[in-house]
Amino acid sequence: MKHGSFGRLAAQNGGVAYWCACPGWHGAGLSLSAAEAASRWGAEATVDDVRRRLRCRWCGHRGPRIIADVWQRGPERPLS
Ligand SMILES: [Zn+2]
Repeated sequence: MKHGSFGRLAAQNGGVAYWCACPGWHGAGLSLSAAEAASRWGAEATVDDVRRRLRCRWCGHRGPRIIADVWQRGPERPLS
């Protein structure tokens, strides 16, 4: 599993949000769990692969203007 892939991120109970860095910050256009992202783009696809392919729905800007924010909650751990 590649580093940064959705499969790996899903195993860490993570997720990703993408948005456009235009003036006005075009919303959190796309925010989903890594498991959803893996079923949409494949477990081997990385956060960055998808970022480069995305296109802002409002202004049409592509990859370089698209920001990706990743979160990883980590595996469930018993409280110590
Ligand atoms: Zn935009």
